[in-house]
Amino acid sequence: MTDLQKQIKERTQAVREQMQQAARASGRNIADIMLLAASKTQTPETVAESRELGMDLFGENRVQELEEKAVFGAYGDKKVNLIGHVQSNKAKIAVKYASVIESVDSIEIAQAIANAATKIGKTQDVLVEINIANEESKFGILPKNLDAFLCEICNISGVHVQGLMTNPPISLKKGQNSRFFANLYKLFIDIKAKKYDNISMSILSMGMSRDFCEAIAEGSNIVRIGTGIFGERK
Ligand SMILES: *Cc1c(COP(=O)(O)O)cnc(C)c1O
Repeated sequence: MTDLQKQIKERTQAVREQMQQAARASGRNIADIMLLAASKTQTPETVAESRELGMDLFGENRVQELEEKAVFGAYGDKKVNLIGHVQSNKAKIAVKYASVIESVDSIEIAQAIANAATKIGKTQDVLVEINIANEESKFGILPKNLDAFLCEICNISGVHVQGLMTNPPISLKKGQNSRFFANLYKLFIDIKAKKYDNISMSILSMGMSRDFCEAIAEGSNIVRIGTGIFGERK
């Protein structure tokens, strides 16, 4: 094992232990929570060398990076989700490689994804990205617009909504994002109870290196960890 692999393995184990503690503290089953390694900016070689070191799946922000690493064979038999903003002209590549596209935030992109998916005989699993803190600078559907958005997207065959994801403000203080995570969980439960056609609420993707324990306490079932696994990005 290389030094880099040792470091990644140790960090991943440490993250797992904290996930375990957070799950136990809130009476949750750790088996219900997935560890996604956010591998943006990591080379295909690093991803390939890390994939047996304890993560459940990978996440990429940029479609081009996803394609490059997938073509290299970096992910092996691990799944990879797209977690960054997608443009319609990249939908075809996204659909080819992504297990779940977590960042759907407009009908236009949902339609482009659906068209690309249909062409290759796939129904693309997606999450709706929610701008939970109503930040002007952020992508995502505002909570108040979510019902209307779901009413539209549920008519698009070729995509299947599996849940929600969010990117809250960068967490500077412990506990700072708890209320945003709690609000997203409430939205997730409310939507689930409404039983929209063609909409499932099974995935709640929230929590990053700085705040994943809070996210788990509030009901997350995918945490997306970059720095905590790979170290500081260059
Ligand atoms: C980079 C990134 C992460 C991981 O961030 P870290 O703070 O490095 O853990 C998670 N989600 C998204 C959407 C990201 O872009």
